[in-house]
Parts: sequence; C-alpha cells; structure tokens
Amino acid sequence: MALYIVPDKCIKCGACWAECPVNAVHENHVFYIDSEKCIDCGACDFICPINAVFYDIEAALKCLQEEAGEAKLSMEEAEIKAKEAEDKAKETNTEEDKEAVQAATDAATAAKSAFEAAEASLAKVQAEYEAS
Ligand code: SF4
Ligand code: SF4
Repeated sequence: MALYIVPDKCIKCGACWAECPVNAVHENHVFYIDSEKCIDCGACDFICPINAVFYDIEAALKCLQEEAGEAKLSMEEAEIKAKEAEDKAKETNTEEDKEAVQAATDAATAAKSAFEAAEASLAKVQAEYEAS
C-alpha cells in the first residue's frame, strides 16, 4: 500500500512532488500518490512541512479521528466557558464582564468551526477509505 496524503491538510507546497524519486506524486487539484508507482521510500513523508503524509490511509484516518475528538473537547470546553461568562455578566452587569462574554462567545464559535472542519476532513477520508 502506498503512502497517503490527506487532502485537507496539504498546503500544496509541492515539496513531496519534487522529492519523489519515481514521480509517484501527482497533482490534480490536490496532491496524491500513485500507488502503482510508489516504492514506499518515505521521502515525501520526511519532507512534508506540515505532516500531511501518512504511511497509509488507515493511519491518516486514525489521526483525523483523534483530531476530531480533540476538536470536539475544545468546542465543549469553550461552550462551557462562554456560558459561565454569560452567567457572571448577568450577575455583575459590568462592562468588563460583558466584554468577557463576547470574547468567550467568539472563542466558542471558532472552536465550533474548527470541530466542523475536522469532522468534514474525517468524513472525506472515511468515504475514500470505504470506497477503496
Ligand atoms: S514514499 Fe517515496 S516513492 Fe512513494 S510517493 Fe513518497 S517519495 Fe514517492
Ligand atoms: S509536501 Fe506536504 S504540504 Fe507539500 S504538497 Fe506534499 S503533502 Fe502537501
């Protein structure tokens, strides 16, 4: 089985394409590895600046599942903090606490977006895995 590039992680820098000794990395909107040509040398994995290359699709799936799980926890924590800030601001009614509510709400919104992005990346790779 050839190494695997996670499409949503890849920043399309082309380093893996330039490094591959057998021209097994191709680009068609996303970079991908041709399993027929790949000799599993690992050079693309080594050169990738943001760890978008995995030993195989199952390893990529495991990583994305972990990331989605972590993103979910972060989102839940941020939602709890936003609720706490809201409750405090209701009690004190100070400008400072109202600003804290806004900051906590923004953080919760960002955490939710990150979770949704992680879920979407996972779903794409899961679908590819199931189709393979
Ligand atoms: S593992 Fe080696 S041969 Fe396979 S795509 Fe990466 S650089 Fe090319
Ligand atoms: S080296 Fe990594 S980030 Fe750059 S194109 Fe290849 S997979 Fe994508």
